[in-house]
Amino acid sequence: VHLRTVNVCQVLKEILPLIKNEALLHNVTVNIERRLSSLPMVIADGELLKQVFLNLCKNAIEAMRDGGLLTIRLGLQEPENKFVVDIVDAGPGIPSHVLEQIFDPFFTTKENGTGLGLPICKQILNEFGGRIDVTSDEMGTTFHVHLPLV
Ligand code: ADP
Ligand code: MG
Repeated sequence: VHLRTVNVCQVLKEILPLIKNEALLHNVTVNIERRLSSLPMVIADGELLKQVFLNLCKNAIEAMRDGGLLTIRLGLQEPENKFVVDIVDAGPGIPSHVLEQIFDPFFTTKENGTGLGLPICKQILNEFGGRIDVTSDEMGTTFHVHLPLV
């Protein structure tokens, strides 16, 4: 882990072609919402942060089997003074008995899943002093990635 000052927009810019390509294949539209007044500088390892966003976007696209909208929303979390990136999908949502297990290593509901994407995301964010949580209902799922501001 190589912690430094990282611009979240820059990180997203670098992986957007990959996400868009995957999205195109599955009829998913990618929308980025920037609710920002200043540069989103956080403390992280840029390469590992890319891996987090790629894992989450891949899951989001896989959740929307008939296509849909993937929103990546950037903004500040005021009370905590953390930076937050929301990965929002319009998939079927995660039932509560599944939700309890999604961060467990090797837990998967997919035929060819590894069940390692989310536990790795969680571990990486822990290393940065950040965290991940999730909200989900039948309208879709949102993963909230919290990152420490510089
Ligand atoms: P994998 O993608 O290999 O199954 P993950 O750790 O990335 O492993 O995800 C674990 C499980 O969490 C998935 O199998 C799926 O059941 C659930 N999940 C993750 N992201 C989403 C999402 N955006 N919508 C619905 N279910 C999800
Ligand atoms: Mg996955």
